[in-house]
Amino acid sequence: MRFADIPGLDSIKEKLIRSVRENKIAHAQLFAGKPGALNLPMALAFNTYIHCLDKKENDACGQCHACSKNLKYIHPDVTFVFPLANLTGDKDEDRFRADILKSWRQFLLEKPFGDADAWAAFYGAEDKQPLISREESREIVKALSLKPFESRFKVMLIWQPEYMHPAAANGILKILEEPPPQTIFLLVTNAFDQLMATILSRTQMVQVPLLPDETLAAYLRDNHAISGSKNDKIVQQVEGNLHAALQWTDEEGEDDSSTFFFDWMMACFNANYGEVVSMADTFHEADRQRQRHVVAHALGMMREALLHRAGAAAISRVKGHEQQRIQRLSARLHAFQLDVITRLLNEALFHLERNGSAKMIFTDLSIRLGRVIRSAGEA
Ligand SMILES: [Zn+2]
Repeated sequence: MRFADIPGLDSIKEKLIRSVRENKIAHAQLFAGKPGALNLPMALAFNTYIHCLDKKENDACGQCHACSKNLKYIHPDVTFVFPLANLTGDKDEDRFRADILKSWRQFLLEKPFGDADAWAAFYGAEDKQPLISREESREIVKALSLKPFESRFKVMLIWQPEYMHPAAANGILKILEEPPPQTIFLLVTNAFDQLMATILSRTQMVQVPLLPDETLAAYLRDNHAISGSKNDKIVQQVEGNLHAALQWTDEEGEDDSSTFFFDWMMACFNANYGEVVSMADTFHEADRQRQRHVVAHALGMMREALLHRAGAAAISRVKGHEQQRIQRLSARLHAFQLDVITRLLNEALFHLERNGSAKMIFTDLSIRLGRVIRSAGEA
């Protein structure tokens, strides 16, 4: 994350940059914001700037050795601490840590503006109580006993310290009281009022407000091609929360595709050719991008169904009613059928990209899919 990736909030960026340039970085800072504020991205961008080897006036260079690692969240002098639900089942703690760290990096890359719920959904821990455990605080102490590897500073970024186990919080407090040299703590909270006063008194506050409507509207327009009344409607709904705004835009599109997909599969399964022809017309009328999206969405669903069949639902991305649909789909189809369907969808995508007739491609694909779904799948 770089400052340029975050819309607006210029005065905060300037202040942070100045503290680095004037060599006055506070050793413990609390990035506080309401739910939906971009305080985590801000702390991440600040971290990138601190380590950058070729700092520009307004941002990290994005090119140097340190930046390239920070932009992938693999800089050896950065430690991330974040809440986790106690996921039972994996007894091998080292492997679990390595896996979850991989998920965390993936989450930051794919959902740079994601919130705590998005994170829980991402690694499959919805509805479970997250916590920064006592063991975690031991890891923190361990990490801090090492000198920086590559950089002048070590950064410890603690996301949502409000979820710290009391024992972990006490450990952190001790460290904040007598911070190791060359170490910078960036605490990031969306529940400022739940933090212990002792933590507040030991940290310098960086307040990150929600985005002003006009900043959000411009961002949606410039980065997601959302304009006009749809832009107005979203901006009105989300009150400066960029994550919520992006979810809104995603869900609307995804839900359309999802409904189309399942209706389509039902029509194929039931050999309802009247319905298939009418859907082929709808498909034909859509623009190319939308057509490709429908087929790509179907491929994604097949992947999910295969994951379900393989008993790997935990790493699935879908949730809610879509998950139930996937379950039904995977219960109905064998793995080899899912393989054949995946191949057929890929072929259709290939023909679409070569500007074949969308109606022909869709109808032909539907007939073949119907055959595979109903029988043992000669295609
Ligand atoms: Zn750099």
